[in-house]
This record gives sequence, structure tokens and C-alpha cells, in this order.
Amino acid sequence: MCEISSSICSSPIGHLAIDYCPQGLHFIIQVPTINDKTFIADENQPIEIVSTTGKDSLPKSCLQWLDSYFHSNEKTLITPELCPTVITKNDSFQANVWRTLLNQVHYGQTVTYGELAELAGNKRAARAVGTAMRRNPFQLIVPCHRVIRSNGELGNYAGGVRNNTKVWLLKHEQN
Ligand SMILES: [Zn+2]
Repeated sequence: MCEISSSICSSPIGHLAIDYCPQGLHFIIQVPTINDKTFIADENQPIEIVSTTGKDSLPKSCLQWLDSYFHSNEKTLITPELCPTVITKNDSFQANVWRTLLNQVHYGQTVTYGELAELAGNKRAARAVGTAMRRNPFQLIVPCHRVIRSNGELGNYAGGVRNNTKVWLLKHEQN
């Protein structure tokens, strides 16, 4: 079993809650209070640890990734260590969708639900891809914001409650 520590980090899209163990990240998400009603982006907000519980400090690889993502023009980011128990050693279709999105849909690109299903090996599984996006354990790092509808609409983010975040992230990646 992994011993989990947790940190809250500031970012341009608000505070991020991050869980990790000595092997890597387990979970990253905007704090639960952020939704379309309370979302305010500040592109100048630095990445800083606000608080930590547990015995380990947030991995530097995660801080560096977040800083590069929000504050550099570097488009090829080095994925921070992800605990293997979360997606690498998980042979479900859902985990395969997460890995495919992580490895094949790069900064500034978008993909449709159907295209991602096909890339993950089952082109009829667009609906399952939607479910996998809602359950994505690694917001931003596994870039579910880059998955859009086939008619060109952006589609929902976090089940529809964070669509403004999705709009902001996609615009950020075009700069
Ligand atoms: Zn772990």
C-alpha cells in the first residue's frame, strides 16, 4: 500500500489538490470549490505550495511540470512521476485511454472523443472515453481538456461544472 501525502498548490486556474506517495503522483485536481461560478484565472499566479499534510513533500517533478505548463513557452513537458499503481499497472480500457491521451495528444492539440477511442484501440467506445475523462485522476497532466466533440464544440469538463477552465486551458495552449 502507498503512504499518501497531500499538498495544495496555487496556480493560474486556482488551488490544486495533489495526492502523492514516494513513487509518484496519485491524483491532481482543482480544489472542489472551483466551478464555473467561482472560476477566476490569473495567468501571473506562481506555482507555490500552500499547505502539505503527510510526511513527504510534493515531488519537484510535479512543481516543475506545473511551472513549465503555465509559465514557460516550452511545449514539450517532462511528465512528472506518476505512481505505477494508478495507471501504468492498470490494464483496464479506462487506464489505456488515460495513457493514450497522456502519450499521444500533445500541448496545443485537440482530439475528439471518437478519435481518442480509436487511438486507444476501440473506435466504438466514444462513450467509455467520456466516462474515463470524468474519472481522470490527473487533471492537466492527462489532458482531458484537449478532448472535444466531433462537431467542433468543446464539450464538457469535469462533468460540465468546469467548462470555463477548459476554455481557458485551450486558449492558454494557443498562446
Ligand atoms: Zn503510490
